[in-house]
Amino acid sequence: MGPLSLLTDYSTEVSNLCEGNAMEKMKANYLPLLGQEHAARKLHVHLTELDPAGEGWEHQHSHAAEEAIYILEGEAEFTFAGQTHRVGPGELVFFPSNVTHAETRFLTSKMKYLVIRTMEPGDEPCCCGADLSSEQ
Ligand SMILES: [Zn+2]
Repeated sequence: MGPLSLLTDYSTEVSNLCEGNAMEKMKANYLPLLGQEHAARKLHVHLTELDPAGEGWEHQHSHAAEEAIYILEGEAEFTFAGQTHRVGPGELVFFPSNVTHAETRFLTSKMKYLVIRTMEPGDEPCCCGADLSSEQ
C-alpha cells in the first residue's frame, strides 16, 4: 500500500465549524487529502462536506492560487467574472488565478465536493485552514 491510500480513510475525518456569518447555519467537514504534510509542494486537495449546506455564502475573495471545485454530491450556483454557473455531480468549476470568486448559492441541503488548488506565495491558507505556501 502506498502512503496515499491512508488518506482516503474516512476515519481520519477532521471536523471544523467555520467561523463567520455566512457559515453560521452550515456544518462543514474538511477531509485533507493532499498537502504539505504529504510533501506536496504546490498542490492542495481536500474534500468538503456541507450538511446542512445552508443557503450559500458571499465570501468573495481572490488569490494567486488556481482553484478547481469538483462536485460529487449536490447542486450549486457559483457566480464569478460576471457569470453564474450551475453545477452538479461530475461537473467542475475552475477559478483562474486572481479572479474574484465564491459567491455561492447551494441548491441542495447536502453538498460534497473536492477542492483542488495550488499553494502560492502570499496567499491566505485554504478555506480548510491548511496549506500556506512554503514560499511566503
Ligand atoms: Zn478560493
